[in-house]
Amino acid sequence: MTKPQKGARKVRHPATAILHSGRDPAGQHGFVNTPVYRGSTVLFPTLEALDAYDKQPYRYGRHGTPTTTALETALTELEGGARTFLTASGYQAVTTAILAFVNAGDHVLMVDSVYQPTRRFCDTILARLGVTTTYYDPLIGGGIAELIQPNTRVVFLESPGSLTFEVQDVGAIAKAAKARDVTVLMDNTWASPLYFRPLAHGVDVSISACTKYIVGHADAMLGAITANARTAEAVETARAVLGGCPGSEETYLGLRGLRTLAVRLERHQRSALEVARWLATRPEVDRILHPALPDDPGHALWKAQFTGASGLFSIILKPTPRKALAAMLDGLSLFGMGYSWGGYESLIVPFNPKHYRTATAWTSEGQALRLHIGLDDVGDLIADLEAGFARLNAAR
Ligand SMILES: *Cc1c(COP(=O)(O)O)cnc(C)c1O
Repeated sequence: MTKPQKGARKVRHPATAILHSGRDPAGQHGFVNTPVYRGSTVLFPTLEALDAYDKQPYRYGRHGTPTTTALETALTELEGGARTFLTASGYQAVTTAILAFVNAGDHVLMVDSVYQPTRRFCDTILARLGVTTTYYDPLIGGGIAELIQPNTRVVFLESPGSLTFEVQDVGAIAKAAKARDVTVLMDNTWASPLYFRPLAHGVDVSISACTKYIVGHADAMLGAITANARTAEAVETARAVLGGCPGSEETYLGLRGLRTLAVRLERHQRSALEVARWLATRPEVDRILHPALPDDPGHALWKAQFTGASGLFSIILKPTPRKALAAMLDGLSLFGMGYSWGGYESLIVPFNPKHYRTATAWTSEGQALRLHIGLDDVGDLIADLEAGFARLNAAR
């Protein structure tokens, strides 16, 4: 079945595409937005139509509605892909995309800096199904060729890593994988398709946790898988067979968020850089992990590949007693402590890469903190952190 993905082939500036793609006011009585189609049953007008089940654009709620088509169309255009498939969460997009390409006895190459639940999936369900995983250094580049085994089916990237922000050489890795007929998957959540288009760099399948910047308001879970022409059918089958589908309201919230993604990201980017530069001047801070800063080790690669940075980065503090850290974090008034990111709000969470890395060693001794810079006034955010450092120093 081919769903109508209108506008998917046009080339226009991404900031324009996100406003217009997947919308058809003339088909909605002139209303600007595609409405929320709720539904399970889709009626077939005749027995002949029922016999030709696959020919009808909409067949059953789980397989898609005009609301899901609208968002899938827009994301397909933005990613420059062949088809997009929505899922109930970003994590489900990850697992569905991997399962689309592996069989028992196969091997996956997984980046060591990957989102931790992705790692857990490899180490549990995939392992149980007889699929082995080798973790690789995010900075491996073309050296990935040496890790490719005869049974390697998938190379999985996440760039930058969403906790530690290593930038991968996507083109070099994709090239080495292609030469051995290995499918390349990338988690593109950090940059969003507005600031990085994986398929243009040789990736086959781009994965988004739309929960983050695309929804943008911390009020829905949603994922998307965009595939190129070579891989679309495998992803379509996996999504249909595994049964993941997003809720109608969540899909609508994804569409609604997408329309303002460009202005929000611009602000997240600018404020995050300002906060990062201020943090770099603080005596309590040992290191900033933000690839858009010129002295970041990943800066040159970031600059060569990305068209922007989002609002998420990390810092390493100089060694700090736990009670001083608690004094800082517990008293913050604008930064909340909690997982996920990409909404309008600012967040901060401590983390420790030593707990999960296997291919690379994490040698920093200081406490790592991940910050999401929201849409608050940047002066207010800096004041909140400054007061936090004062509490930290007082509690040493
Ligand atoms: C949050 C996140 C996911 C998972 O998305 P959910 O919608 O929370 O399931 C996957 N990858 C990255 C990089 C993420 O940050």
